[in-house]
Amino acid sequence: MKLGTAIFAVGALPSLIQALPTSSSSSSHTGDVLNQIWTRASSAVTSDLNAVKDKTFSHIVIGCGLAGSVVSARLSEDSQNSVLCVEAGSDTRSADNVVHAYSYGDVTSDEEKNFKYPPTANGRELSVSAGKGLGGSTSINGLAVTRPPQSQIDAFGQDIGTGWSWEMLLPYMKKAEKFDPPSDDLKALGADWDPSAHGTDGPVAVGYPSTLYRGEIINRYSEAITNTVGTPHIQDSNNGVQPGVCRTPNTILPGSGDAQTRVSAATAYITPNEARKNLIFLTGTRGERINWDDGSGDAKAQSVRLRQDEDGEFVDVPVSGAVVAASGAIASPVFLQLSGIGSSGLLDDLGITQKVPLDGVGKHLTEQTMSSLGADGGGDPDGNGPSGLIAYMSVDNLFSNSSDVREYVEDNLDAYAQSAVDAGAAVSKNAMLKQFKSHVAGIFDKQEGLVELFADNGYPSDRGGLVWNLLPFSRGSVSASANSAFGNPRVDPRYFSASWDLDVQIEAARAVRRIFQALGVDETVPGFDAGNGGVPDGPQNGDYQGWKEWVLNKFSSVAHPMSTCMMAPREDGGVVDNDFKVYGTSNVFVADASVVPMAISAHLQSFLYGVAELAADKIKDSA
Ligand SMILES: Cc1cc2nc3c(=O)[nH]c(=O)nc-3n(C[C@H](O)[C@H](O)[C@H](O)COP(=O)(O)OP(=O)(O)OC[C@H]3O[C@@H](n4cnc5c(N)ncnc54)[C@H](O)[C@@H]3O)c2cc1C
Repeated sequence: MKLGTAIFAVGALPSLIQALPTSSSSSSHTGDVLNQIWTRASSAVTSDLNAVKDKTFSHIVIGCGLAGSVVSARLSEDSQNSVLCVEAGSDTRSADNVVHAYSYGDVTSDEEKNFKYPPTANGRELSVSAGKGLGGSTSINGLAVTRPPQSQIDAFGQDIGTGWSWEMLLPYMKKAEKFDPPSDDLKALGADWDPSAHGTDGPVAVGYPSTLYRGEIINRYSEAITNTVGTPHIQDSNNGVQPGVCRTPNTILPGSGDAQTRVSAATAYITPNEARKNLIFLTGTRGERINWDDGSGDAKAQSVRLRQDEDGEFVDVPVSGAVVAASGAIASPVFLQLSGIGSSGLLDDLGITQKVPLDGVGKHLTEQTMSSLGADGGGDPDGNGPSGLIAYMSVDNLFSNSSDVREYVEDNLDAYAQSAVDAGAAVSKNAMLKQFKSHVAGIFDKQEGLVELFADNGYPSDRGGLVWNLLPFSRGSVSASANSAFGNPRVDPRYFSASWDLDVQIEAARAVRRIFQALGVDETVPGFDAGNGGVPDGPQNGDYQGWKEWVLNKFSSVAHPMSTCMMAPREDGGVVDNDFKVYGTSNVFVADASVVPMAISAHLQSFLYGVAELAADKIKDSA
């Protein structure tokens, strides 16, 4: 059965009016029906709260970022649905620093277009960034397109129970994609593709920019990675084969040349559908909480409370079908908590009545950690990016004694799991052990990417070696700090609480030093702090203590938060079932990065577009 089939789109108006009864006794019913027919100006994008007052929607989506844009566009393909997507930020689609890929530094420091969620860690103020505005983080991100190894997605199904596999999710990732094959000119530079891995009819344009770096240093950098740590050259970073190093494509408009026009979830899924009469994107507005039906059984969302600013009026908008949380991995669990879904201790503290006891909400946060090393020299990269050389390095690429390393990791799993539970970052020790064992098999048996090396140009020096641990074992948490969508959530990623995560980060930094040495470039002081002195070289490319201090003083967040509303069995701390539906509810879903149960060895967007496409299908099919 489809959701919300009682709602009529504007296109049905003339025949509906003819069908309405004329007797005065039916006038209140007539009023109800007319109330549900909503009219608006030609654009689906508005910041006018009046556009949704006194209206009922079949679906209300909270957050118009990656997942929210996909789900709203797909649900509104059915003219019998009426979809409202609520976005905290504004319509930033034509902002210069959003449009042009080379404005990355500018847009990520633009307060209007970012949430800087404020965690503290290791005595440092470290924020986790997320995009704010239509398209969410895809309107500010680095545009890199890579996908996780096949075995990792299979493991989500086999080990965690999501029902996913590479074979099942690849068609959804392809459905989102419109790949533009590289020209011969770009191919000669090393831009390649595996046609079996790419979609060519989807809304999200992906390809290699004509401004691709052409300098010979880029291929030398790639060869230095292969020759130094053994990461092989691969054809394509999107066909599920790892480890490997290659040029990587971007979400960039084909033919946009020097303008390097960004393709975001907003330009791909909102702009082409703006004329739909059954779709509204309401900007500058936050989803505060769900109001519930009084009936018994699974909790049923009746309306969603919205607000435009901290002192603004509350507006309750009725929903006949489903509510979809798509506010990202930090804000979606907060929206559920403010709605009374979560653990009783937290909700009691906030003065919120518990509707659904669900301890996993906001737990299991995974966030990756990045260290940026720099070097001067190597020659002109000849181009202006975006940088597109990425290596996924395996444990064998990084550690010479990986069987000893495995033993060390396995010996510590119990302690890591217990510490996550003790810190309130995980619900079940056994579930954590299940996740960690899955990671161990992926890392050691399947040689999945353990570290990403993002080869940058011009940041932090002529050559950049930005490295991050892709598969952290540390787990953190997110919780509302006040009974308001305008409160700052408490975000505690518990970086490096699993000691292995620090070992990986240190080994990655050492590997970059060796690669720079092979390239013959002059390593600048890691962390570009002249007073710091860096980490002196030595037989092991710098001693453990030196690297430890440097990593802890200089690391930053990668801005890839995940897993705070995991898809997993409820007893394992799962928040959504395999249909993306929140346990204990009949019509509330989560569709964004929160549902991914563990970190992945890739940039997130290509994978998340596939997950959101899958979520849209599941929500369409749900009763
Ligand atoms: C700086 C940065 C660089 C990145 N670089 C890359 C990259 O190069 N390649 C890649 O693949 N991935 C990259 N990513 C990651 C990727 O873009 C995100 O993982 C992805 O967009 C997450 O999708 P989402 O739907 O979960 O959340 P988002 O896309 O972040 O969308 C969430 C939306 O919800 C809105 N919102 C929040 N709270 C509320 C509320 N209460 N009410 C209403 N709306 C709300 C937000 O404003 C936002 O629009 C990057 C991310 C960042 C932040």
